[in-house]
Amino acid sequence: MLDEQEWERMASALSDFEQKVKPIKHPAACDHAEAQRLVGELEREVSDRYFEITGYRETNIHAIRHHRLADFGPECSRCGHLFRTPQAGFCANCGLKKNLTTDSADGHG
Ligand SMILES: [Zn+2]
Repeated sequence: MLDEQEWERMASALSDFEQKVKPIKHPAACDHAEAQRLVGELEREVSDRYFEITGYRETNIHAIRHHRLADFGPECSRCGHLFRTPQAGFCANCGLKKNLTTDSADGHG
């Protein structure tokens, strides 16, 4: 999971990736094999950045978007799992309802 500081670094790499990949994926750009190769290279750059930050090798760079800690809710007070979203009403792991949790962060931020 990425905290907000780590996420900032990752987000810039991801938006960089999207800027570069757009013209490559354009149908009129270049031949398909070359496009695949270039996209692969760009994906590796993002993956390398992720590795630098976390020490984990994530090859599916689209999965990285789901590693932002702030996109998840608080820790479940019963099982310790993260709520799926800050708005989630219950723990997806054990089913504990949020209003039964002891700490009541209001999720502003
Ligand atoms: Zn739980």
